[in-house]
Amino acid sequence: MTKYCHSCTMPLDSPEAKGPSEIYCKHCTDEAGNLKPRDEIKQGIAWWLKSWQEGITEEQAQKRAEHFMQAMPAWAED
Ligand SMILES: [Zn+2]
Repeated sequence: MTKYCHSCTMPLDSPEAKGPSEIYCKHCTDEAGNLKPRDEIKQGIAWWLKSWQEGITEEQAQKRAEHFMQAMPAWAED
């Protein structure tokens, strides 16, 4: 069964994603497997959105990244 990063949903069975953590991909953690700061993850997601959504503005990308993170177990606010 494929596991997904609890921070960004990247599948953890791909070699580029597997890092020291069992629940987060290596893009979302430091070398020790600790989750990176929220803002750093958000910038990464905004960058990723801009890479495949045509014509998206920086402001829209930031907003969508924020929205996306609300659905992530690592970032959901209760
Ligand atoms: Zn991740």
